[in-house]
Amino acid sequence: MLDKIKKYSWLIDSLMEAKWSTKKEVVHNFLNAKKKYVPKEKTNAKVGDILKCALCPNMCRFDCPVARVGNSEALTPAAKSRIAYLMEMGEIDFSGEFVDLMYKCAGCDASREWCPFDFSVEDLLVGVREDIVDKGLAPKALLELKDKLEKNHQIYDQSLIPPDTEAEKARILYFMGCTARAKVPDVVNTNIKLLEKSGLDFATIPDEWCCGAPLSTLGFKDSFYKFAEHNSRLINKSKCRTLVCDCPECAYVFRELYPKIGFRLKAEILPMNQFLLRLVEENKIKPAGLQGEFVYHDPCALSRKLNVCSAPRELLKSIPGLELKETYFSHRETRCCGMGGMLGITNPEISSKIGESRISELKEVCSNIVTACPTCELAFKNANKDKKVKVYDISEVLLKSLEK
Ligand code: SF4
Ligand code: SF4
Repeated sequence: MLDKIKKYSWLIDSLMEAKWSTKKEVVHNFLNAKKKYVPKEKTNAKVGDILKCALCPNMCRFDCPVARVGNSEALTPAAKSRIAYLMEMGEIDFSGEFVDLMYKCAGCDASREWCPFDFSVEDLLVGVREDIVDKGLAPKALLELKDKLEKNHQIYDQSLIPPDTEAEKARILYFMGCTARAKVPDVVNTNIKLLEKSGLDFATIPDEWCCGAPLSTLGFKDSFYKFAEHNSRLINKSKCRTLVCDCPECAYVFRELYPKIGFRLKAEILPMNQFLLRLVEENKIKPAGLQGEFVYHDPCALSRKLNVCSAPRELLKSIPGLELKETYFSHRETRCCGMGGMLGITNPEISSKIGESRISELKEVCSNIVTACPTCELAFKNANKDKKVKVYDISEVLLKSLEK
């Protein structure tokens, strides 16, 4: 308050000279100005923040993958906020293309790197999506997806890996995640082999549900709550001290989003690559060697949301003979694979174009692409139409180096 008084002291000085009625009007407007620009009713959306974003010069647009491949002003971060703001203020309807626009975001946090307010546009849009759900206006396809998730507890139809049954005793739990289990099961098998080689007592979770990221992202907050409750109950009743996740988005959800809705896991939460590096440093896994050049792609969730850039590089550098290459857009300034933020499901065309654009950047460096996220791996495998490059998960590269 004192800061505010200091900031506006020039106004106070001028007001002293003014008539009483003017003083009253200025003070009234000053105190009520904020209220005029946010809705009277309570919203899930942070409308004050959306307004700041809407009024911003929008320079982060140049790093927004959706805007870049979509080639449209409406897809830029501030433009999405402008439409969101008008919807929340009741100036335009929650309908048709305006609602659709609220899902055209890869949740990559690229804009945040440049944002003076440190906004995550995805977070701003999630609040709007929650309002869309509360109004009963969620797109039909997304409602079907939510129903399927609530029924199967997994986002994809089939999970190929049978669950372990020893989870209650193990100190280390391996959370496989829906994408790896259903779409890149080799990664799960690889991780299980690596953990077995380390000699550690680990287990998978018998009744593992999706971490809930898709539900949270799409604004289904009540369903997300149920998933968080289920997974945290299972993990907290076990003897688990370390929860290792294949997918960095799962790790982010456990670490950052569960506590926000009241579920704090008792275990340390680690992405798999960080855990594997620890095993190498403790000599529990000893890479023998692997010749070749590998370019590392930083997954958005790992580098920007969890701030993990050095562990995967250290892990790759620990493999004798392996030559680690970098792309221009790397570390926290990485570029999205296109499958984040459920974009592969909500807007598959935009998602594929982003994946193709990113793989072409990586291809220019060398023909072995390595990443540390099953969703990125899936995106690149889909985008690798001419099969000119090989796409690996970092665990697969590590296992190859042991088997040599
Ligand atoms: S995300 Fe930040 S930098 Fe980008 S338009 Fe919004 S306020 Fe501006
Ligand atoms: S999070 Fe990524 S896709 Fe979404 S608006 Fe920001 S830069 Fe664009």
